[in-house]
Amino acid sequence: MSTTLVLFRQDLRLHDHPALIAAASRGRVVPVFIYDEEQAGDWHLGGASQWWLHESLKSLESSISALSGRLILRRGDTISVLRSLQQESGADAIYFSRQYQPWSAPLETLINNEFHDLNVSIKRFPGTLLHEPGSVLTGSGTAFKVFTPFWRAANKQSVALPLGRPDVDWHSHPLASDDLADWQLQPDTQRGVPNWAEGWQDLWKPGEEGAHLALTDFLEAPVAHYAEGRDVPAKRYTSRLSPHLKFGEISPRQIWSAAQQRKLSAPQWSAPIDKFLAEVGWREFCYQLLDLFNDMPAKPFKQQFAGFPWGNNREHLSAWQRGQTGYPIVDAGMRELQHTGFMHNRVRMIVASFLTKHLLVHWIEGERWFWDCLLDADIASNACSWQWVAGSGADASPYFRIFNPIAQGQKFDSEGEYVKQWCPELSKLPKKYIHEPWEAPQMTLVSADLELGTDYPLPIVDHKTARLGALDAYAVIKQAS
Ligand SMILES: Cc1cc2nc3c(=O)[nH]c(=O)nc-3n(C[C@H](O)[C@H](O)[C@H](O)COP(=O)(O)OP(=O)(O)OC[C@H]3O[C@@H](n4cnc5c(N)ncnc54)[C@H](O)[C@@H]3O)c2cc1C
Repeated sequence: MSTTLVLFRQDLRLHDHPALIAAASRGRVVPVFIYDEEQAGDWHLGGASQWWLHESLKSLESSISALSGRLILRRGDTISVLRSLQQESGADAIYFSRQYQPWSAPLETLINNEFHDLNVSIKRFPGTLLHEPGSVLTGSGTAFKVFTPFWRAANKQSVALPLGRPDVDWHSHPLASDDLADWQLQPDTQRGVPNWAEGWQDLWKPGEEGAHLALTDFLEAPVAHYAEGRDVPAKRYTSRLSPHLKFGEISPRQIWSAAQQRKLSAPQWSAPIDKFLAEVGWREFCYQLLDLFNDMPAKPFKQQFAGFPWGNNREHLSAWQRGQTGYPIVDAGMRELQHTGFMHNRVRMIVASFLTKHLLVHWIEGERWFWDCLLDADIASNACSWQWVAGSGADASPYFRIFNPIAQGQKFDSEGEYVKQWCPELSKLPKKYIHEPWEAPQMTLVSADLELGTDYPLPIVDHKTARLGALDAYAVIKQAS
């Protein structure tokens, strides 16, 4: 009887999994996850993502064991581990979902080459995007560099219905498997490591079931407010599906299909549902750009930005990372990130603009910090979004669009609820001053129990001066081009 190794990667689910379905249809299946720390080079999983991976694998392990199978966990070089597993199991095929990170295609080629002469069939299946890179093209056959026409063209293509969970004949051979705890993906408090993930268990439910719950909850009601509510960080009007999507616990076409059904049952919500799907479309667009420009995580998409005169003020970078810039909406965002592994999209844009424009710190520093701290850290969306804010990306926000952190706070957190949640030292300030505490009269500060410079920092840069500095820096590359 045929045996197939199914290599799980960022597709940690049992439903709508084409590789698993194909493997199940040909015989026994050995489900495998390999923790290969070298594979991604500089972009090895950040701390927050490791926490999620641990939880997600635990969930996948228990789903497979409830079906009388066993997920095999191995740590090490992917090719060496696959070689051993193929010999130990006698597998005559290795199936996996395609991944789109710059390091994935070379690995897939290596797997193919390694097993080609051994008569082991290697197959790669789509599975983590709605549209494979290269399948949505302009009339002249090139990749889109602007989102709106990309999404319009994508929407002309059909999306297949998601597939169910296959009946699998799991391989019963007692293959050795690592103990997940030994991978030390989570803070080891017993060895004195501070528990930076404290409380995350209550905030998140990693795994396939958690992903579907998040989607169902969101489509149940919050989606009705999505169009305008998605910009309000104090409200829960977005789906929070990003970490689930990042680890493939849910496929975009499952999301697509559920959203289309919701439009049928609640036609009055069609517009906000389409807006939500367009954001899922941004994820697709980012992957398409990454496919076009593999260096996107490290190099500016727009060449002229290679000569941008970035500063290198480490104290400013550190204040930004710690949520101590003196600008409440920025600090609230950075602290939300630290405490929850997540940051609201509007605030991500504000803090990214502040770092790259007010502080003139290179966007790569922000990208790396997010990579380590975000549960949803994703090589395409992160790089694409940082470059979008910094002005160097394809279809980027124009550089001279410099977010005013005070005005942004007043507009999107008008009651100051978000700031008060993450910067509790400001909680007694009247809302008039919540986004610019330095403007509050001394008496007001005293009654709010607040001493600026002691309880909460004074602004590390002056907004107007910093804005002019950013425009001057931009003029340097504008003149050069
Ligand atoms: C500087 C910066 C860095 C970012 N880094 C990441 C990252 O590492 N990983 C990541 O998934 N998203 C990133 N984003 C995009 C966006 O902030 C998150 O996808 C979104 O906040 C996730 O919340 P949600 O699931 O509630 O989104 P929803 O609003 O519910 O959107 C649904 C899904 O669409 C996708 N999506 C939404 N907005 C975007 C966007 N602007 N770009 C790409 N995809 C989007 C996500 O997969 C998201 O889960 C970044 C944005 C900025 C400004």
